Amino acid sequence: MLNIVLFGPPGAGKGTQSELLVSQFGLNHLSTGDIFRANIKSETELGKLAKSYIDKGELVPDEVTIGMLKSEFEKAGDAKGFIFDGFPRTTEQAKALSGFLQEKGTDITLMLALEVPEEELVNRLLLRGKDSGRADDADENVIRNRIKVYNEQTAVVADFYNALSKFNGINGVGSIEQIFERLSSAINSSNK
Ligand code: ADP
Repeated sequence: MLNIVLFGPPGAGKGTQSELLVSQFGLNHLSTGDIFRANIKSETELGKLAKSYIDKGELVPDEVTIGMLKSEFEKAGDAKGFIFDGFPRTTEQAKALSGFLQEKGTDITLMLALEVPEEELVNRLLLRGKDSGRADDADENVIRNRIKVYNEQTAVVADFYNALSKFNGINGVGSIEQIFERLSSAINSSNK
């Protein structure tokens, strides 16, 4: 299996690049942000709980996020592999992910970490907020808090994969096609 963690701060382009990678490599896409938003839309209990954190730019607690991701992963059944987008966001989540992949006899193949300067992130998110309808993109204070939470709680996840020699930093500034090209070559060279 080819299991990719697509990593990077909010606004780095994980969602856009995931779609392209899914069609190129035939992978299943698991985005915790998308799953939370679907639950918020259909007003499930999980959605209500998640919304109270997302609206402030905080992380949804590990216990909730890990349980949800595991059940989505199990629902997906057989697949050539997965793109994990927006997960793991804490070291606890990274350890849990390895645990349930290993139960299925597989593991993360590589982490692709999109690198984008902070001011560019804020601009991209404010722009997205104008037409995405995402409340967490409309408020600059919430955006700044998400970046702060990323720096304080999520950035360390890169060290976890670096220690396993699975970390690949990718320049996330450029055209969508250029960035896709960089990601694809990193996947192809790790797959040899
Ligand atoms: P972005 O990367 O643009 O912030 P996402 O769609 O990945 O957007 O996530 C939106 C929000 O959902 C996050 O700000 C956070 O509140 C919550 N969230 C998503 N993934 C996780 C996760 N793995 N752990 C905890 N909270 C999460």
